[in-house]
Amino acid sequence: MAVKITDLCINCDSCIDECPATAIVSAGDSPINGDVTYVKPEKCIECADSTMPKCSDACPTEGAIVWDMPYTEDFNDYFVKGHESGEYNIREHKKNGIMYPSISPKPYREAIAISDRQAHVAIAG
Ligand code: SF4
Ligand code: SF4
Repeated sequence: MAVKITDLCINCDSCIDECPATAIVSAGDSPINGDVTYVKPEKCIECADSTMPKCSDACPTEGAIVWDMPYTEDFNDYFVKGHESGEYNIREHKKNGIMYPSISPKPYREAIAISDRQAHVAIAG
């Protein structure tokens, strides 16, 4: 990721159509469980060319969308572990395999501190 949706989410789906990367799916379409709206970390680009993440801008629920680690090679192990533990379900490409950051890194916001990402700080509105 990227960003992550927590269990504070009320599944209003307001964020889904706002995402320029089609990275968000409703709870019913979540590849990890059916309870909470899900961000696909392998698709999220952190809206790096906008003032702020568009999902967070649309979200009525404080704390529902938080920072996660950059989807870059430096954090490949983090996402591999998350995928293997079931926290994420990263898409498998027929030819290239699982689309981990080492294979398909994504843009991220350098201004967000790694400590805030590790702490999954809520994205400020
Ligand atoms: S930060 Fe941007 S790209 Fe990532 S899930 Fe939110 S709207 Fe989509
Ligand atoms: S806008 Fe916020 S509360 Fe609504 S589905 Fe998205 S993350 Fe959940």
